[in-house]
Amino acid sequence: MVNESEMLEEQRRAIPVQADVDVLVVGAGSAGIAAAVAAAEAGRSTMLVDASGMVGGTLVAQFLEGSAGYHDAAGNLIVRGFVGRLIEMLLDYGSSPGHTVDQTGYSVTRLPYNHAELGLCEAVFLGEAGVRVQLNTMVVDVVLDRSGPLPVISHVVLEGKGGRHAVRPAVVIDASGDADVAFKAGAAFQTDWADARQPSSLLFKVGSLDFDELLRYFRSHPEDFREGSSISEPLDDVLHLWGFGALLAQARADGRLALNRDELQLAGWHRRGEAIVNLSRVQGDALDSGWSGRAAIEVSLQVLEIARFFREYVPGGANSYVQQVASRLGVRESRRVLGDYTMSADDVRAGARFDDAVGLGGFPIDIHDPSGTSLSFAEPLVSAYQIPYRSLVVGGLGNLLVAGRCMSATHEAAGSLRLTPQCFVTGEAAGTAAALSVIEGTSPRDIDPADLAERLRARNVILHV
Ligand SMILES: Cc1cc2nc3c(=O)[nH]c(=O)nc-3n(C[C@H](O)[C@H](O)[C@H](O)COP(=O)(O)OP(=O)(O)OC[C@H]3O[C@@H](n4cnc5c(N)ncnc54)[C@H](O)[C@@H]3O)c2cc1C
Repeated sequence: MVNESEMLEEQRRAIPVQADVDVLVVGAGSAGIAAAVAAAEAGRSTMLVDASGMVGGTLVAQFLEGSAGYHDAAGNLIVRGFVGRLIEMLLDYGSSPGHTVDQTGYSVTRLPYNHAELGLCEAVFLGEAGVRVQLNTMVVDVVLDRSGPLPVISHVVLEGKGGRHAVRPAVVIDASGDADVAFKAGAAFQTDWADARQPSSLLFKVGSLDFDELLRYFRSHPEDFREGSSISEPLDDVLHLWGFGALLAQARADGRLALNRDELQLAGWHRRGEAIVNLSRVQGDALDSGWSGRAAIEVSLQVLEIARFFREYVPGGANSYVQQVASRLGVRESRRVLGDYTMSADDVRAGARFDDAVGLGGFPIDIHDPSGTSLSFAEPLVSAYQIPYRSLVVGGLGNLLVAGRCMSATHEAAGSLRLTPQCFVTGEAAGTAAALSVIEGTSPRDIDPADLAERLRARNVILHV
């Protein structure tokens, strides 16, 4: 906890201004990479900074079971653009089997991928686009210029291994997941999250699973898996299995598993005998450093118990072991900014249309259960919805855009918009818009949505189905 009764006056110091850039993107996750590539490909000088030592953000670090949300309920492709090119690269290197049917019936398709090779492909893309990437570099402050009608960020203060320096950007894109730049700039945030926030999880990979035995259990115990679960013959490269509730209940009854969950999600690369397991859960405020530390300890115990559960209870798991653990806790929800427009659950459910649409979403409203025993609740959508540019424009500031999971959306709407395809979509839109505003010498808020749409279409972004 922060002790606010005792305050320390920080020392004032002069720091070097390292660079002038057209577009500064903060956060090298799905949204930030798409934003930086789009801005750089539009010919603008672009810098991308990330607090960690890697590019790829949550999609790489958390090695999710599959990026999902590329198709609407009718099976139409709704997301292409930058991520479409990235998928082609993954296919070319054999790093992903491409879009596959979601065998759990939870959504329409999933894009399984090898997380390490995804990060490598993203780094290559950034290099080819000419993005200046700075890693191990954290945004620690911003300086506002209040001389105009709205405050603008004149400098962003960065702290790297070599010390503290500043960058002078024309436009900033906050793709930090936690909206750190918006926070430091004094932006307003959605207020519906405090009690309702989604839980965080730590995903891990088990090795040496015997899939013949595992699949015998799946085929002989359909009642222990989500309704609608099926696996294709011949087998897809990656198998998604949701269930194992009877086994989890037995382990709990035997005192071998403390976590009270009645299903787990497994994405298995059967030829390699590997599977990613999604089951752990911790609830709290990811912006509280003390909580993050406690959560890391709590979730470590959960992962150890789950790994033991695999060895002791899961058919085919006798020789399994934890092969790899995500390098950081996976945070589903923290700050969401208050933008010029806030996407609501009604917009998402109704397949809303907007004059300033920059892309599409279509994944079910996916809310993970913070306290009950199930994994998550998905409310299927009938059709795709459009995402308006205004939901990427941070309210009350002249040159700050947002992209990714911290965009302007309610808790429920974010349940769909936080999916990685939509993070790529909003990132590409923000990067393209930032470049356009620099080219035209206007505030990002004042660009013409029709010009933006034309540029996005030229990038092969899908705006309508
Ligand atoms: C456990 C879990 C399972 C999920 N499952 C799926 C799934 O199956 N399919 C799917 O599509 N989506 C899934 N999601 C959702 C999805 O992964 C995230 O919403 C998405 O990856 C967020 O992307 P982003 O670009 O907004 O942020 P991130 O990818 O989190 O990137 C933000 C980056 O900003 C950096 N950063 C943060 N603060 C600062 C700072 N102050 N200065 C500099 N850098 C900073 C971070 O280091 C990070 O690299 C899951 C999420 C979780 C947590």
